[in-house]
Amino acid sequence: MSALSARARELDAADPLAWCRDEYLPAEGVVAYLDGNSLGRPLRATAERIERLVHHDWGTRLIRSWEEQWMELPLRLGDRIGGACLGAAPGQTVVGDSTTVMLYKLLRAAVSAAGPGRDEIVLDSENFPTDRYVAEGIAAETGARLVWVEPDPAKGVTPDLVTGVLGERTAVVLLSHVAYKSAWVAELPEITRLVHEAGALVLWDLCHSVGVVPSELDAHEVDLAVGCTYKFLGGGPGAPAFGYVAARHQERLRQPIQGWMGHAEPFVMGPGYRPGPGMRAFISGTPPVLGMVGIEDSVELIERVGLDAVRAKATALGRYVIESVDEHLARHGVRVVSPREDERRGGHVTIAHPRSREICARLWEEGVVPDFREPDGIRLGLSPLSTSFAEVGRALTQVEELLSR
Ligand SMILES: *Cc1c(COP(=O)(O)O)cnc(C)c1O
Repeated sequence: MSALSARARELDAADPLAWCRDEYLPAEGVVAYLDGNSLGRPLRATAERIERLVHHDWGTRLIRSWEEQWMELPLRLGDRIGGACLGAAPGQTVVGDSTTVMLYKLLRAAVSAAGPGRDEIVLDSENFPTDRYVAEGIAAETGARLVWVEPDPAKGVTPDLVTGVLGERTAVVLLSHVAYKSAWVAELPEITRLVHEAGALVLWDLCHSVGVVPSELDAHEVDLAVGCTYKFLGGGPGAPAFGYVAARHQERLRQPIQGWMGHAEPFVMGPGYRPGPGMRAFISGTPPVLGMVGIEDSVELIERVGLDAVRAKATALGRYVIESVDEHLARHGVRVVSPREDERRGGHVTIAHPRSREICARLWEEGVVPDFREPDGIRLGLSPLSTSFAEVGRALTQVEELLSR
């Protein structure tokens, strides 16, 4: 056995969350799945829950299920995500829409609610494309000005960079908690404080942190947040996003897509729009019930083990990758391009090599599934609940073999 796999075996033996991996459906032919930060694996429980939904809730209860459970589902599930993953008290989180649309709704609401003379949206050039595109669209629509922060791509946005651009004209600051490329964990508490000092609102994108890095939104007085449920939360392809609006802003902020499902009395079907109470007003159309099935099971598993334990395993997996690269792959020219400090690194590690594109293609052929990132990165998603150290070890051993040929 190689030194790499011997170490993985030790780490797996000492892992208190090792049992969680058996809760997932086996993936035939997959040697190592390292893309759980793009599409999380399905739980066995989800396969059963989908079956139950089709046969019972939908197939038998039919339209009665709307009244019996589905009307409340976006709010009930939102509260559960908030409690298990966001440090959010009930009544501030709702599930629905894609991340892109939810982001539009909250960012647009924040821009419209900004005081006189506040017409700038602060964002960073390394954020996920959809975030940048949505902000560009809102700027074109409202006349707001975009103020770009340019972080070091191997790191991320720092408090200093944000301070440099905040001012009397700042309306809202849009940032990712964990950078999708580098895995940099932004200093959410400090940046939130600085934005508030400047009199603006902050909107945190939690796509790459929810379910793996705690965010404690209430404790840090975050204003707004959005996040994906199909990455670390394992909701399945196209599972809807969640939106968080701090209770103190809910009366004042108006989201732009006023639909009947966000109305105070949807079934009265009356003449004008009247927003529903609290987070109901942030719903637009019919909630995507089928897409919410898997989220519930993942959140349940996180509730059982606790988010801190999930975070601890993500950290350990990341450290194992970094140590293995240093000891076995650095001599072949592989570099770690994610933060080395545990507290600054989220749930994935990106490594770089000039031959990354070719290596990635070969790995996929052999059932090892990370993803390639331009120009020369291999992103290793380390979903803590579904990934073993042995799995990561096998992937790194393959990389070492490919580079030794
Ligand atoms: C994955 C991701 C998205 C995805 O948006 P969709 O509308 O769900 O396709 C958006 N923002 C960030 C930061 C992401 O990581």
